[in-house]
Amino acid sequence: MAQVKLNKIVKNYGNLEVVHGIDLDIQHNEFVVLVGPSGCGKSTTLRMIAGLEDISGGEISIGDNVVNDLPPRDRNISMVFQNYALYPHMTVRENLGFSLKIAKKSEAEIEKAVAEAAEILSLTEYLERKPGALSGGQRQRVAMGRAIVRHPDVFLFDEPLSNLDAKLRAQMRIEIKKLHQKIKTTIVYVTHDQVEAMTLADRIVIMRDGYIEQQGTPLEVFETPVNTFVATFIGSPPMNLMDATIKGGNLDLGDGVVIPVPPEFEGKVSDGQSVVFGFRADNIMPVGHSLPMEGAHATFDMTIGLTEPLGTETLLFATLAGTEIQAKMLNPRPVTPGERLTFQIDLTRCHLFDGETKKSLR
Ligand code: ADP
Repeated sequence: MAQVKLNKIVKNYGNLEVVHGIDLDIQHNEFVVLVGPSGCGKSTTLRMIAGLEDISGGEISIGDNVVNDLPPRDRNISMVFQNYALYPHMTVRENLGFSLKIAKKSEAEIEKAVAEAAEILSLTEYLERKPGALSGGQRQRVAMGRAIVRHPDVFLFDEPLSNLDAKLRAQMRIEIKKLHQKIKTTIVYVTHDQVEAMTLADRIVIMRDGYIEQQGTPLEVFETPVNTFVATFIGSPPMNLMDATIKGGNLDLGDGVVIPVPPEFEGKVSDGQSVVFGFRADNIMPVGHSLPMEGAHATFDMTIGLTEPLGTETLLFATLAGTEIQAKMLNPRPVTPGERLTFQIDLTRCHLFDGETKKSLR
């Protein structure tokens, strides 16, 4: 069993504290993705789990062992980086088997492990090639194969797909997900890409400035973000946010636009309170081009600015009470800038955050 536990983990670089006492429990076989903007401390956290960085405070355990003072080679982890770091003069077979050879495994053991990894990753027909004669995706698979042959308790991935183009990234995401289903190992995966995080993770851990902001399943963090940071970081396009004030049981968005308080937040706000009103483009649509809104909703007109036709839907940019927002049009028809359309907003899917703390009022 290989759970990974982080208990009040701190990292200092000199006088600067960059990870501030985070707690994280990763279950056996769980696929956990650490995601957040550049510089939020995800790689540092991963590297502390790997043993590539000292831990300034707190405790990390893998399985039943506290590993704070164990060197990387004794932690039974394998790490895959974004630069594949393959040996260019060795064949795929030699690259895959190299770490086992160093560990003085027998020829037969190495051959078996290499054949198994090559089979899992569909690399069998490339075993005699050198990395120079492989595509980017194949090289990335070799890098993963090198991690697999060691049968680690935990796989650590540090932005492994960053060097690939968008199409290949999407393909490799699927391969990594399949790989996890096949080999059932605990995975900790770092990325700044929220789409990658959403598609891969059993559980997403969203970090900002060395703190964990929220963790949960992809749907939990999408549907119930705890603050405006998570609300705008997860989901594309980002959630629309507008400053608003509670007035007489309604939400005053300014410029004379007043709509009811979303039902979920009735009784959780008081008159005069400053709030941030949040809603996704999928929940504000022009009448006649939307999903049926059966629950509470509000209706108002907006003038269209830019449009982004995406095929099955069109993204509409419009101004609501002085704030530019994005809305969606399903079954689209051509729309010209300056056109005025009537929109419906689904209040059952909207969010309210505290105006000061930006925390959800849910
Ligand atoms: P992320 O992986 O989320 O982009 P990192 O974990 O690489 O972020 O970095 C977290 C913070 O620690 C950043 O502010 C970064 O500048 C700082 N940092 C990272 N490595 C070092 C280092 N070797 N020395 C000093 N500061 C560092």
